[in-house]
Amino acid sequence: MTGRMPALFVGHGSPMNVITDNPFRRGWAALGTRLPRPDAILCVSAHWLTRGTAVTMGHPLATIHDFHGFPRALYEERYPVPDARPFAQAAIDAIRSTRVVATADWGLDHGAWAVLKPMYPAGDIPVFQLSIDADAPPRRHLELGREIGALRERGVMIVASGNIVHNLALMRPGAAPYDWALEFDAYVAGALERGDDDALADYTRAGRAAELAVNTAEHYLPLLYAAGARRDGDALEFFNEGFDLASVSMRGVVFRTA
Ligand code: ZN
Repeated sequence: MTGRMPALFVGHGSPMNVITDNPFRRGWAALGTRLPRPDAILCVSAHWLTRGTAVTMGHPLATIHDFHGFPRALYEERYPVPDARPFAQAAIDAIRSTRVVATADWGLDHGAWAVLKPMYPAGDIPVFQLSIDADAPPRRHLELGREIGALRERGVMIVASGNIVHNLALMRPGAAPYDWALEFDAYVAGALERGDDDALADYTRAGRAAELAVNTAEHYLPLLYAAGARRDGDALEFFNEGFDLASVSMRGVVFRTA
């Protein structure tokens, strides 16, 4: 028995984090050594939005370079992993609230590989992705998170990857975080500490700060899968608290057996 695997939310930020030495990358590498080793990883990435919900059901999974204008070294990165199809099938079976489509048309996007490669550089753990239904309201993502949370008892680590605060239009390299960015990050951290899923789903309550921090929702929504996968008695831990580019929160969250 491996016990209940952790559920994580990882703030991924710039793809450059994977090929440069920086505190965020070091934080991810530390997770890989200090958390229990999973049999497989289910990743929910901000970069895979679909109509309805899908899982990757292919092998090998391509390393997807879904970004533009970066140095060649980033496009040469690969993250081959072992066959995850039996685990992907277990995820399909665990989700009863909707029909989940199995697809061989997606691999690992950079929301997945750019954090998992630093965490598990050997690439010896099977990884698969669950897509985000772009049409679903926030509460549906929490509900899907609850369903996939059952896989934690079966050796599967949940790694949701996005950013709590993510506004690319207002990025300022080297600048201090905006007040609204700090405010929204604190709003979310408080809700996580209280176990207040309603406040996470109804994040627009945070008003103007929410409008600026979540100007598009795709980087925020993965957090709801991790929060949904939380179980009674889990300990909450934050890592990589801090900001990049003034408008991107790098805060990560671990839910794990206390
Ligand atoms: Zn991203």
